[in-house]
Amino acid sequence: MSALPYAGIEAGGTKCLLAIGHGHDSILERHRLPTGDADATLAALRRQLYAAHTRYGGLRGVGVAAFGPLQLDRQSADFGRVLATPKPHWRGADWRQVLPDPAMPFAIDTDVNAAALAEHRWGAGKGVASLVYLTVGTGIGGGIVIDGKPLHGALHPEIGHLRVQRHLQDGEFKGVCPFHNDCLEGLASGPAIQARTGQSLSDLAASHPLQAIVADYLGQVCAQLLLTLAANRIVIGGGVLQASGLIDAIRQRCTHWIGGYLPACDGDALSSRIVMPRFADAGLIGALALAMPASD
Ligand code: ZN
Repeated sequence: MSALPYAGIEAGGTKCLLAIGHGHDSILERHRLPTGDADATLAALRRQLYAAHTRYGGLRGVGVAAFGPLQLDRQSADFGRVLATPKPHWRGADWRQVLPDPAMPFAIDTDVNAAALAEHRWGAGKGVASLVYLTVGTGIGGGIVIDGKPLHGALHPEIGHLRVQRHLQDGEFKGVCPFHNDCLEGLASGPAIQARTGQSLSDLAASHPLQAIVADYLGQVCAQLLLTLAANRIVIGGGVLQASGLIDAIRQRCTHWIGGYLPACDGDALSSRIVMPRFADAGLIGALALAMPASD
C-alpha cells in the first residue's frame, strides 16, 4: 500500500499505545509508552509521531482515544483538552500537542467512543444504525455510535454512572463509586466485585450468587439502552466479562427487564444483539478509525 499511513493513540491510566497503519488489518507498527505526567507523556508521543512522520514521508492524520473527561466540541477554544480530572497534572492537557505538524488532521474521542467506532466500522456491529460499546473492568465505560458517528452532546456518554434498581440479595453493599456509591459502576465493576468477595468474578464459581447479581445490573442497563437508543447492537467486553456464562446471564436478565415490550428481545434474538467485541484492542483500533475517513 503506497498511500501515507494514519496514526492512532490509545491513552489509558497506566500506558499509551500507538499504532501506525491503514486500518485494523494493516498495522505497520505498534509502540507502548508508560502514562506519566501530561507534559512528559505528550512530548514522548510527539517524538514517536515525528519519527513516523519522517520515516513514511508524512502521516495522513492522527486519532486519539483517551480517558476523559475531554472537550470534544471543535468550536471550543479548549477542543482536544482534558477537562476536570482527578488524574494529577492532566487537567487542561492539550492532546493536539502530540501532532508533529499543527496543521495535520486530528480527531479525538473517548476511549470507549473510539472502541464503539472500531466495532461499528470493522467489528461486531458492522454498519448498524445504533451501536453501544460497554466495557466492564476497573470502571464501566460506554461509547455510542449513531449513524456512523460517535455520540457527543454537552459532554460524552457516561453510561457507567446510570442508576440501577437494587437486587434484592444485594441490599447491604454500599457500592464503590466515589460520586454515587451505588450506580452501575459502583455495583458491577471489577473493584465492586472485589470489595464484596476479595476475588474477581471469573475466580468465583458461575453459581456464586454475585454472578446473578452482576448479570442483573448489566441486564438492566442493556434494557435501558435498547429502550433509549433503539440499539441494534450492544457490544460488551472488559475483564469482568471473562467470567464464564456471564454474557448469557446478562441476555436473560435483559429479556426479563424488557418484559416483552420490544420485539426481538427474547433470549435467542438477544444472542445476536448483545455480543462480545471482535477486537481485544478496540480502543487502539478505534483511534486509527477516528483518524481515517469511513470511506478509506
Ligand atoms: Zn457513579
